[in-house]
Amino acid sequence: MALICATERNSALAGGVYPFPLFEDSDFNIPSVFMKDTEGEKLLQYHGKIVKLDSYAERIASTAFNIVAHKGDLKASKIVISAHIDAKLGTPGAIDNATGVSVLLLLAEVLKDYKGKYLIELVAFNGEDYYSVPGQMKYIEQHQGNFEQVLLNINIDGAGFHMGNSAFSPFDLPEEFQFILDQIISEHKNIEIGEPWVQGDHSIFVQYGRPAIAVSSSWFIENMENQDITHTPKDHPGIINYERVSDICIGISKFINGINEIK
Ligand SMILES: [Zn+2]
Repeated sequence: MALICATERNSALAGGVYPFPLFEDSDFNIPSVFMKDTEGEKLLQYHGKIVKLDSYAERIASTAFNIVAHKGDLKASKIVISAHIDAKLGTPGAIDNATGVSVLLLLAEVLKDYKGKYLIELVAFNGEDYYSVPGQMKYIEQHQGNFEQVLLNINIDGAGFHMGNSAFSPFDLPEEFQFILDQIISEHKNIEIGEPWVQGDHSIFVQYGRPAIAVSSSWFIENMENQDITHTPKDHPGIINYERVSDICIGISKFINGINEIK
């Protein structure tokens, strides 16, 4: 027995990949292959006939890590700044998510003399683009009962696109944090308030009731349903505006300083 899947284009679910593998779960024991919907229609004409399927696949066990760095008092309320370090197979992963990791590295440099009252936690999540989000699951397991320590999550994913503005999408921000965010946005003409989107590593913090800001590109949020860039070879360094990347870093570090100054 095997599953033959025919998929239409579905950017919200699979980025720009078409056709896309409907099953990615390697623990799922029924072999499966995938094809375009148009090819599926042709195959459907053979309904009732016997077809032969050759599919060669193997399971490759691997070990991976989240990378976590701290600055400040380990017992203090913490600002978790995160970006996923993995990319989908078959894409250079420039926007998704090399720019996010670049912002994380820039922030490590900018915050190296940080002395604020809140703990800074930088997290390079692994496996965000993998079907079972193993990095997120590991983080949840390691912080079970401890999410109250999270003052706020800032997650960078899909940032630095050359078209449109950078988007800072707030989730349940306390009023005083929102005030600081609005101030920063008024100073950076390339950054705007984005619509909330609940994919990506900030979701786990939102699910645990913690405030979050998802940092991305407005163009991707607006075209989530019909873009054909993410998870494809089109997500290459040529579509990045590097100034946006450094601007985002400056914006985030101003925000961190701002909330540290709240009495
Ligand atoms: Zn991503």
